[in-house]
Amino acid sequence: MWIFLNDRFVTEQDAKISVFDHGFLYGDGVYETIRSYGARIFMRDHHLSRLHRSADAIGLTVPIPPSEWPRLLHEAMDRNQLGNDQTDAYLRITVSRGVGEIGLDPALCQTPTVVIMAKPLHPPAAELYQRGVSLVIAQTRRNLPSALSPQIKATNFLNNILAKREAIAARVFDALLLNWEGHLTEGTVSNVFFISQGRLYTPSVECGLLDGITRTILLQMAGELKIPVHEGRFTPEELLHADECFLTNTSMEVMPVVSVNGQSIGHSTPGPLTRQLHRHFIDNRSRFLEPLG
Ligand code: PLP
Repeated sequence: MWIFLNDRFVTEQDAKISVFDHGFLYGDGVYETIRSYGARIFMRDHHLSRLHRSADAIGLTVPIPPSEWPRLLHEAMDRNQLGNDQTDAYLRITVSRGVGEIGLDPALCQTPTVVIMAKPLHPPAAELYQRGVSLVIAQTRRNLPSALSPQIKATNFLNNILAKREAIAARVFDALLLNWEGHLTEGTVSNVFFISQGRLYTPSVECGLLDGITRTILLQMAGELKIPVHEGRFTPEELLHADECFLTNTSMEVMPVVSVNGQSIGHSTPGPLTRQLHRHFIDNRSRFLEPLG
């Protein structure tokens, strides 16, 4: 595998980072996961803007100018023979603080570490989309936004990992995290939606969650399908009484959820509006791909 490290592409064996790197020591960094459909990257500029916003929020200067990213992402795909008719690409950009002391004086500050990895994208198995998945509501609460904002896509990912461990212990697909008030936020790597009486509900960003790029597209698509949308604060009970539920993220798109905490959602099978929204997403996603060439 070819990996971009700081200023050049190197082989996996040569992609070495210092043990003093603050990303390794403290989870002091930011990242993005991006995908392609064939050769074209989905919502590229939105992902890159979110990377720069996350970096700004932790006072990290991304050492790659915005205009350079498209070339680097495509080179990462090309060198690894990805992003073609056979294989969609999963791209991960990581920017960490690097080695040195934390300081306000730029002359004393570290040089950030930049990594781009490109791997084949492996979406969940087709049968999971057909059957739907089960979730638990985690005991682990989502980070308090005033402590570590979930809007920052940070390499400090322990909050989500602790919730994911609960899902693994319960032998289910994923966990949902509640916020400090007991309201729903999101999955460990996804946003959550539910449908009740023909209306689509999703926790608002103020509940403390990552403003997912797929979430934004889904909300837009619900508008196109004339499905009324309500962003707000919701309790787990409202979700448990919903007719349908699903998760969204860049690599899985729309994943139907059929049970939460062992309790069936709707008829325990992917619901009609979930299917309609996913179909609309598949039929229209090309509108959100970068232009060819
Ligand atoms: N929420 C969290 C915590 C995530 O890690 C992710 C994606 O990785 C999402 C939501 C969904 O974001 P997106 O749709 O931009 O992939």
